Amino acid sequence: MIDERGQRITELLTDNVHAEMAAFRALHELEMDDRTIETLAEAVAANVMYAFAVDWSPSWLPPGVPHSWLWDGHWFARCPACLRDSAPAASQEAAVTWAETHAAEHHA
Ligand SMILES: [Zn+2]
Repeated sequence: MIDERGQRITELLTDNVHAEMAAFRALHELEMDDRTIETLAEAVAANVMYAFAVDWSPSWLPPGVPHSWLWDGHWFARCPACLRDSAPAASQEAAVTWAETHAAEHHA
């Protein structure tokens, strides 16, 4: 049985594979429709998750520090424990505060 973090790792891996494939398609002007890219990304991620130990552990973050990013004019932050993402926030501080408060609940 896959726990919440394991499910999020699968989703994040699939998203990253999809983004790389979409960028490769654009760079090389390949004729692949969106559904093909999505199916391939899901298949690659499923195979990786089936046979390898995978974790979301970016090297640029110290352990326990929430990852935060700006997307489409809104800030987001990711809980380092369960990898749930914040709702869109007006500031980086607000998003990170949510992630830190949420992460602390895992230890309560
Ligand atoms: Zn969490």
